Amino acid sequence: MTYRRKRRAFPRRKVCRFCADSKLKIDYKDSKMLKYFITERGKIIPRRISGNCARHQRQVTMAVKRARHIALMPYTTIQPH
Ligand SMILES: [Zn+2]
Repeated sequence: MTYRRKRRAFPRRKVCRFCADSKLKIDYKDSKMLKYFITERGKIIPRRISGNCARHQRQVTMAVKRARHIALMPYTTIQPH
């Protein structure tokens, strides 16, 4: 059981912030914005924490992947090959 300290690091959000604000755009070139959705180690924050809906979470994931591809964002770890 997970009965440790009850500390909410992330406030629960009812709706996805991209659905709530149509001015917000998911742009892979906007690394500043994408940083909100990755951890310090460069991992993509899961949907249940970010509060995004499935559609926008997928767009964020795509944007992060694209940004990584053009070296705007770090990869999580060194991948074993
Ligand atoms: Zn959404």
